Amino acid sequence: MFEPAFAKINLALHVRRRREDGYHEIETIFAFARDGDAISIDDDGAPGLTLTGDFAGALAGESRDDNLVMRGARMLGAALDRPVPAAIGLTKNLPVAAGIGGGSADAAAVIRLLCRLWDVPIEDPRVDAVARQLGADVPACVVSRTLRGDGRGDDLRPVPSAALSGMPLLLVNPRVPLATGPVFAAWDRIDRGPLADGDPLAAALAGRNDLEPLARGLCPVIGDVVGLLADRPGVLLARMSGSGATCFALFDSAAACEAAANHIAGARPDWWMMRTELR
Ligand code: ATP
Repeated sequence: MFEPAFAKINLALHVRRRREDGYHEIETIFAFARDGDAISIDDDGAPGLTLTGDFAGALAGESRDDNLVMRGARMLGAALDRPVPAAIGLTKNLPVAAGIGGGSADAAAVIRLLCRLWDVPIEDPRVDAVARQLGADVPACVVSRTLRGDGRGDDLRPVPSAALSGMPLLLVNPRVPLATGPVFAAWDRIDRGPLADGDPLAAALAGRNDLEPLARGLCPVIGDVVGLLADRPGVLLARMSGSGATCFALFDSAAACEAAANHIAGARPDWWMMRTELR
């Protein structure tokens, strides 16, 4: 059995308030790429988590039991009283600590896959409770459709997304890992105002990613990535995703997206790129 783990982007991300529990109140628009990592269950596979893919090496030094895929599988098995499959595979195509929800998307994919295997509806409140416990972005990644997220990012509402589905999307990462904690810690606690409701693209265009200047302070090359994307013909929106360092651009045509990818691959062959579409 196989389940894709769709890359997550934040079309906009407003930070409004720091909470007593250390989390931040945010307002965001989640969107998802058609591509990302992949989770599999193979009855004949080696026991434990098998890592493959371009970024498997980035997780090689970490305990496989602590990987969000295994934690998610164990927690869901315990919550639903089911035996967890012995052999789980993770194809790690997305850069790690990159603001595109790699770990959260993987945890969400294992949740969807196990619900399918065990014939449990994804709407089961026990499933939602596990997703929330695994991380603030995990409930959105379980849905993996364009959503408005408030609170920790897990107070979710659907938004009209027909116009976004299929839109050409380019993800670019300068191959510099950036942990989420230090980026939020650099926030100056100034509330720069709410994210608009309604059409998600219009709201995103009128909005911002409040983490972008903070991440650029820690990792200045992010400014080069956004700048290069924003200058390409046919760009509708170029911005950093999540806490970075991955940046994205939405394009008005597949040809414009391809031309931008070719240009950036020529200019910065050392950067990671994924040419895809919004789901
Ligand atoms: P977000 O966009 O949700 O902030 P991110 O892309 O910044 O996520 P992740 O790629 O999820 O961050 O990685 C954060 C850390 O989580 C990694 O440095 C790694 O130690 C740990 N981790 C555990 N499981 C995974 C996984 N399956 N994929 C990536 N990282 C994982």
